[in-house]
Amino acid sequence: MIIKETDVVVVGAGHAGIEASYAAQKIGAKTVLITMNLETIGQMSCNPAIGGQAKGQVVKEIDAMGGVMGFMADRAGIHFKILNSSKGVAVRAPRAQEDKALYRSLMKSFLEKQENLEIYQGIVTGIEIKDGKVFGVRLKDDSIIKAKAVILTTGTFLNGLIHIGMKSYPSGRANEPASTELSENLKNLGFEIIRLKTGTPMRLKKDSIDWEKFEKQPGDRKPRPFSWRTEKVRNKIICYIGRTNKKVHEIIQRNLTLAPLYAGKIEGIGIRYCPSIEDKIVKFKDKESHVFYLEPEGINTEEIYVNGLSTSLPVEIQRKMLESIPGLEESIIMRPAYAIEYDAIKPHQIKETLETRLYEGLYTAGQINGTSGYEEAAGQGLVAGINAALKVLGKKPFILSRRDSLIGVMIDDLITRSIDEPYRLFTSRAEYRLLLRADNAKQRLSQKAFSVGMLDEDEYREIQERIETAEKLVLFLNKEKFKYKGRRITYSKYLKMPKATFEKVKRAFKEKFKDLREDERDFVEAELKYEGYIKKMLNEVERIEKEENTKIPESFDIEEVNGISIEIREKVKKYKPKKIGDLKKIPGITPAAVSLILLHIKRKG
Ligand code: FAD
Repeated sequence: MIIKETDVVVVGAGHAGIEASYAAQKIGAKTVLITMNLETIGQMSCNPAIGGQAKGQVVKEIDAMGGVMGFMADRAGIHFKILNSSKGVAVRAPRAQEDKALYRSLMKSFLEKQENLEIYQGIVTGIEIKDGKVFGVRLKDDSIIKAKAVILTTGTFLNGLIHIGMKSYPSGRANEPASTELSENLKNLGFEIIRLKTGTPMRLKKDSIDWEKFEKQPGDRKPRPFSWRTEKVRNKIICYIGRTNKKVHEIIQRNLTLAPLYAGKIEGIGIRYCPSIEDKIVKFKDKESHVFYLEPEGINTEEIYVNGLSTSLPVEIQRKMLESIPGLEESIIMRPAYAIEYDAIKPHQIKETLETRLYEGLYTAGQINGTSGYEEAAGQGLVAGINAALKVLGKKPFILSRRDSLIGVMIDDLITRSIDEPYRLFTSRAEYRLLLRADNAKQRLSQKAFSVGMLDEDEYREIQERIETAEKLVLFLNKEKFKYKGRRITYSKYLKMPKATFEKVKRAFKEKFKDLREDERDFVEAELKYEGYIKKMLNEVERIEKEENTKIPESFDIEEVNGISIEIREKVKKYKPKKIGDLKKIPGITPAAVSLILLHIKRKG
C-alpha cells in the first residue's frame, strides 16, 4: 500500500543522509528522510571528531556549498585544532573533537525545522522499480513510499556482521539491526557487491583512568571554526596521548588466533589507514610502541574513546591489554571494541551525479559506495541530494570536478577506478592539491552552489564580500613595495623567499588584516606564496596528461622507484599496468606516484 508520495526519498540519516536530505529539500524538492531510529540521526559510529587531513578540507567544501556538517561541528565542538599548523599553509587542515550527543540532538532538531523535509522512522527492505526507473521504497511493514528519486545512504548496515573474538552476529552498528533484506534486494537488482570491514576501539570510564600518566594535548590557543557562518568557537576539554608497550604487544601476539581476521573468520577487506592494533603489531613487528589518544565523547558523559586501539579481539583480551598500560590498569570498559563486515556497492556502477547506471532515479552516497569516514560520506550526500533534486525539477546536473574540489576527486576516483578496499580521501589523491586548500573553498565552490540554490542571496552576498576583501589584499601586496636587505621588493616577492614570515606582513598592515578571519588570512598568504608552485604543478599535470599512451616496459620494477608507498607498490605488482593510462586507472594510485613512475621510465629510456 502506498502511504506517501514525494519527490525524493533519502534512506538513512547518517552523515551522507543528512546532507542529501537537507540539500534536496533546500533546492526545492519535497523530501522524505527515512531512517531506522530517529534517536541516531547524525550518530558518529566511531571517533568523536570531524575533520583532519583532507577531511577538514572536505568539511570546508561542504560548508562553502551551503551544507550542514561544518556549521553543526562548530556548535557541538569541544576541542579544535588545525593540523599541520607548523607546516605550509597549503596543507593546513581543521579538526575538532565533538560532543557526540549534542551533535546528534542539534542535527535532529535542525532537520526537523526544514520546511520541505519530512522525517519518518522506518526500515527500508527494498527498492521498487518500474520500467527501469525507481518508483519508491518498500518498508518492513510492506507499505510503500512513492518517490521520483531515491538516495540510499545506509552506511555499514547492509548485511552488517559484528565480530568480537570468535563470536559474530548480524548488526548494522553496535546493538542496531543489520539491513539484510535491503542488501539481498540490491543483489537481486543486479548490483555488484564487495564485502568490506572496519572496526572501532573500546570506550572507557573517565574516572577509572589515571590521567597523570598521560601527556596533555590541548586544543589550539586560538580555536578556529569550520564554517564561514560561525564567528567564534571555544575549547572545552583536553585530550591525552598514551603509548602501547612491549607487554601489550606480547599479549596481542599470543592471542592472534582469537582475532577473527587472523583466524580466517573475516572475509571483508579492511581499511588500510585505520588498522586495528593487532594489524599494526603484525605489520610493524619492529615497532616497540604505538601511539593512542584518549578523547572524551562529550561533556555530559564519562565515556572516553581510545583512538588507536581498535580491535576485534575478545573482551577478556581487551581487558588484559589495558591492564598492561600504565594509567589504564584499573580502567573500566563501558563499550567493548569490535569489528564489522558489511556489503558495499562497487562504485563503478554509479555516475558522477551519484545516480546508479542501472536504474534511473536511484542514487547511492557514503559508506554504501565503499568509502570510509563521516566527511567522505557527507560530501557524497550533498552531491547526491543536489542532483536528485535537480533531476526531479528537470534541471541540469551538478558535477564537481577533480580541479574544483576534493569531493570531485573522490567521486571521480570512485566511478572511474572503483575500489578494491575501503576508500579514504587524501590530498595526495588530487593532482591539483595546491589549488584544493581549506582556505579557498569559498572561492572554489560558492558560485556553483549559489547557481543551484544551495545558498540564499544574502548568504552568497556575504561570502562574496569576504572573498573580495581578501582578494583586494592579495592585489595590494602584489604591488606594495618595501625595503628589504637594501632592495625595494614587493611583499609578494618577499613571501616567496625561504626565510620570509607572514607575521611580518600582517604586522605591517594590521588595519587591513583586521577584518579578515584566520582562514582568509591563510588565503592571502597561500595565494602570494604558492604562485610559482601552482604554475609548476599545472605544467606537471599537463605533461602527465600527454603521456597516457607511454608504454611501461616489461622489465619495469616498481621496487626501483623511490618515494612510492607500500600500498602503491602492492597495487602496481597486482595490476601490472602496460601503459601510463592503465596505471592511472588503478584504484588508489596517486598523481604523485604516476609522476615518479613516469620520470623513472623516461630516465631509464
Ligand atoms: P552511517 O553513518 O552508517 O549511517 C547509516 C544510516 O542509515 C543510519 O542512520 C542507519 O540507521 C540508516 N539505515 C541503514 N539501513 C537502513 C534501512 N534499511 N532503512 C532505514 N534506515 C537505514 N570511519 C573512519 O573513517 N574510520 C574508522 O576507523 C571508522 N570506524 C568505524 C567503525 C565502526 C564500527 C563503524 C560502524 C563505522 C566506522 N567508520 C569509520 C565509518 C563511519 O562511521 C562511516 O564512514 C560514516 O558514518 C558513513 O556515513 P554514512 O552516512 O554513509 O552511514
